[in-house]
Amino acid sequence: MQQVVILGTGGTIAGTGVDPGRSWQYQAAQLTVAQLVQAVPALSASHLDVVQVAQIDSKDMSWAVWRSLGDALQQYLTRDDVAGVVITHGTDTLEETAYLLSHFVDARKPVVLTAAMRPATAHDADGPGNLRDAVRVVHEAARRRLGGVVAVLHGRIWAAEHVRKAHTAQLDAFDGGGHAPLALVDEGGQWTAAAPAWPTSAARAWSLLAKKPPRVEVVHSHADADGWLLDAALAYAGDHGPLDGLVLAGTGHGTLHQGLEAAVNRARAVGVTVWRSSRVARGGVMSRDSDSLRAAGDLTVAQARVALMLYLLESK
Ligand code: ASP
Repeated sequence: MQQVVILGTGGTIAGTGVDPGRSWQYQAAQLTVAQLVQAVPALSASHLDVVQVAQIDSKDMSWAVWRSLGDALQQYLTRDDVAGVVITHGTDTLEETAYLLSHFVDARKPVVLTAAMRPATAHDADGPGNLRDAVRVVHEAARRRLGGVVAVLHGRIWAAEHVRKAHTAQLDAFDGGGHAPLALVDEGGQWTAAAPAWPTSAARAWSLLAKKPPRVEVVHSHADADGWLLDAALAYAGDHGPLDGLVLAGTGHGTLHQGLEAAVNRARAVGVTVWRSSRVARGGVMSRDSDSLRAAGDLTVAQARVALMLYLLESK
């Protein structure tokens, strides 16, 4: 039987608190990934290898951790005895990591991110069930010859480019921004409504992650947005190195307050690449004939930032 490699990065799934009834009072990233696996009896018969790649609250996710994940994935996915990889992650930036990795992991093997909304010590801890499902999904995907990056959370398999955290507290915290899950996973590990193929956008060389990341920031449009923050960033960048890219979290279909628009034009005039996305939860921002700024499609604002970073890295 091929093995599943579990890469641990921390998060609430590895979090502990002193009072099981007060699950909101805890510290993320306390248990090792080996301890998480030991706590799931259903995994005792599985052939698993565990590797602690990082131990962080995913609010602190960084390019350096993404690079380490990339190194580990390159190493394990090429091994014939590995069916696929599970990554335990925090929920806060899961959509960014999943989306980033989907540009590098090809369709040959599955990579499944999972997480938890409750720490491991909570009465209603959801980590053990999610981890069990994630391992089962790797095995089943390998059997079906499905590969690429997905997230398995609360009985659903989400495509990397659609998954997003949509609730700050509920166990059922993720959705697809208007897209349906690829499949549902029941308690026995059976899939229902399975998509025949998993989307992959992998065409990039892993070596891209070894490069110095470009500086890409996010600015929101809102009432009274007059570009003050962007002008301040441009002035600062003048002395401290370039602002390479900017993602606008626009109103509605990616529109901007006219005050902010004027500052955006000043940014573009000094070479900043600007893309527009939306602060609205569902629907995305599609391109129009009259567009002067590239539209980020269905991506969340944070995923659009990842996309722009990759674009800039490739065009340098
Ligand atoms: N702050 C935590 C994290 O993202 C939240 C979680 O995992 O649910 O690591």
